Amino acid sequence: MGKLLLKNGYLIDKSERLVRYKADVLVEDGYIRKIAEGIEDKDAEVVDCTGLYVAPGFIDIHTHIFKRSKSLGVDADRVGVESGVTTVCDAGTAGPETLQEFIDTVIKPSRTRVFSGMHFSKRGLEITPEADDESKYDFDLAERVYEENKKYICAIKARASNTTVGELGIKPIQQAEAFARKIGLPLYVHIGRALPYIEEVLDTLGEGDMITHTFHGKESNWILKDGRVKQEALRARARGVLFDVGHGEASFSFKTAKIAFPQGFLPDTVSTDLHARNIDGPVYSLTLTMDKMMALGITLEDVVEMVTARPAQYFKFSVPIGKIKEGYCGDFTIFEVENGEYEYLDSDKNELKGTTRIVVHYAIVNGKVELKK
Ligand SMILES: [Zn+2]
Repeated sequence: MGKLLLKNGYLIDKSERLVRYKADVLVEDGYIRKIAEGIEDKDAEVVDCTGLYVAPGFIDIHTHIFKRSKSLGVDADRVGVESGVTTVCDAGTAGPETLQEFIDTVIKPSRTRVFSGMHFSKRGLEITPEADDESKYDFDLAERVYEENKKYICAIKARASNTTVGELGIKPIQQAEAFARKIGLPLYVHIGRALPYIEEVLDTLGEGDMITHTFHGKESNWILKDGRVKQEALRARARGVLFDVGHGEASFSFKTAKIAFPQGFLPDTVSTDLHARNIDGPVYSLTLTMDKMMALGITLEDVVEMVTARPAQYFKFSVPIGKIKEGYCGDFTIFEVENGEYEYLDSDKNELKGTTRIVVHYAIVNGKVELKK
């Protein structure tokens, strides 16, 4: 596969204590071989990274990229490498009965690394509500499909809101949590309007499970109460429950973030929930979602960690990604940060001003340049 040499970039990977550290990176046969100043290798293809940041390839843990779903599915490479994102996870669009089709039509042909956060419901999000009736899910089937396809599955997806579980309330979520724990995967849980109540959902989850849409603006079933983050959320975080952004068309509010972030309640991971109905606004891309986080006060180093080392630590990927470290996959997002005056919109059409914007120059997967701008 040959060698690729990234020259003169500023490396950003806080998890490896690389904070704008100027060095070269040599990739050989798809894996990071050496990180040092002044590497020379006349056999290597050189990427000139002068003036640019070199980060581990960005990971978006919440997208909908299964083309079978006409209302949700977007092209994996459009939200992936063409947007500077080297790994994407589909959040439950496919379930145990449709996973094989997802593997054949999306995971295998894409230039982006693709994983499934497989829904516990048999058909994923094909028929909604997807978990309001016990005949719609089968944990024995889900376990068999997981055992046969482990390398493609990084998490189990569930949705806990009135449009998904109906009168069953919290019960399917409790069952899904027990199932995910049994097979050793994190449960990745959408939250929205009650039922179930957010307090029940938080109390159901354990270490390594993750909430998405954490900072939505649906005040009737909110993470906040009287201007404070709810005790149930603080207790859950103390137990090791994780909190993701999952921007979406209706699930990220600057108002919520502006109350939660100053209390130290920051996201563990940043993701988009990109699908057919929000890719042309208000979400657009992972990097724009990162820009919004920076406009809300999160540093560049931290927001990069929230889309690289953190998701790689929490989700179960079958390959070593998310770090600039010898032996890890040669996946990189190479970018600059432009300064200017920008205006952003959240899911509720609130405005926010920011002064920085991530502009991607290269996306590299497995030592191969997949995007060059
Ligand atoms: Zn989603």
